[in-house]
Amino acid sequence: MSPSSGQRKHVPQRSCVICRRVLPKRDLTRIVISQGEGLILDSSGKLAGRGAYLCERLSCWESAAHGDALGKVLSYRLTDKDRQVIASHGVEQRPHLINDSIHD
Ligand SMILES: [Zn+2]
Repeated sequence: MSPSSGQRKHVPQRSCVICRRVLPKRDLTRIVISQGEGLILDSSGKLAGRGAYLCERLSCWESAAHGDALGKVLSYRLTDKDRQVIASHGVEQRPHLINDSIHD
């Protein structure tokens, strides 16, 4: 765990709240709970608020949309609308990533 060994550039890493894979932050989508607005997909990664990360796998978005894991991490009760937002994001993803999740 020496900070100066190996890598030239420090890449911030986060883990997907569903599959727990650790990935570079830019490969994950941040989900933020904003006071008053509820659940927001934070594509900029800069919004204030309690956040969680999801990887690109469709299966993770489906689990997040239909299960309780995301709500637990965020201490937040997902509304039907929130679940729709998450589910539709999963569907809109790039085809090769959807294929990846099928083979997994
Ligand atoms: Zn994942």
